[in-house]
Amino acid sequence: MKVAVVGAGAMGMLFGGRLARAGHDVMLIDVDAARVSAIDAHGVTENGAAVSCRAFLPGTAPRSMADLLIVFTKATHTVPAIRQNAALLRPGGVVLTVQNGLGNGSAIAAEVGADHVLVGITNWPADLEGHGEIHVSGSGMVKLWSFDGEDRPVVHSIADALEDAGLNASAEPSVDSAIWTKVIFNATLNGIAALTGLTVGQIGDIEPTRALAMRLVAEGVAIAGASGITIDEEEVRSSVAFALTHHRDHKPSMLQDVEAGRRTEVDAIQGALVNAAYRHGIAVPALETCAALLRGIDARNAPA
Ligand code: NAD
Repeated sequence: MKVAVVGAGAMGMLFGGRLARAGHDVMLIDVDAARVSAIDAHGVTENGAAVSCRAFLPGTAPRSMADLLIVFTKATHTVPAIRQNAALLRPGGVVLTVQNGLGNGSAIAAEVGADHVLVGITNWPADLEGHGEIHVSGSGMVKLWSFDGEDRPVVHSIADALEDAGLNASAEPSVDSAIWTKVIFNATLNGIAALTGLTVGQIGDIEPTRALAMRLVAEGVAIAGASGITIDEEEVRSSVAFALTHHRDHKPSMLQDVEAGRRTEVDAIQGALVNAAYRHGIAVPALETCAALLRGIDARNAPA
């Protein structure tokens, strides 16, 4: 299979590198010229093991060749990334997004057509170590399904290809519920960490931040319910409580973004939940406050 991965960051290199190692023809696309040259020269290195991959700046890769295009920019950059790179897709090819946040699937569908989009989630943990290097600590999974809900053979063939590449992937018809569950989880711990500078364990140790986490979960679950998505609130509360205890030293990506002076994914996470709450007339004061404060930090750190 010919694969184009748009966004050669931590996750793009993880998926691209593993698909290349499994024998697929992979090219990575990124706006960062230094990263593109490093990958082109030395390939992608995951935990010290390298595999060669071609890398290109947007607009310079061969067009109309990819059977699968994976978007792995931050959600903030999904729209420009798909607009700049949709021409890489061959007729009949599909685009996959397992980025965090709400709205990535619809943004991509607007460019390539809803029946060419697969959506999902992943919880693989990957960190950038250098321009062509990543560190993966532990394992994760991928769940995916078609954006329009149809059961098509391509959903299963892409899940199988990712599974064969060692990414622990499955086709999951109830992927919308999984996407919302992950967004609520991220809105909770990522947001509080980014606003306070606390690690996940510290959030759990401090009673007001622990209580705020559970309040954010309750607001998120209410928004999902009003949007027609069934979420098991107890399951989300348990996974937050598990993270507070077992991922104590973890610095969520939104905190890493703030510390590095990058824009956060607030628009696709807390902001998208608040917009959905407004559509359904639900009051979500905790989420609304977190979203406003995060947007303030973004405006200070990385003006649009
Ligand atoms: P990252 O910042 O490491 O990588 C994003 C890359 O996209 C960067 O290299 C950037 O230069 C590139 N980019 C930006 N605009 C582009 C464009 N127009 N065209 C091509 N490339 C462009 O981010 P990441 O950690 O790999 O995360 C990607 C997505 O996966 C996010 O939605 C994130 O929340 C999600 N995610 C990350 C992890 C993780 O452990 N890192 C886990 C699960 C989900």
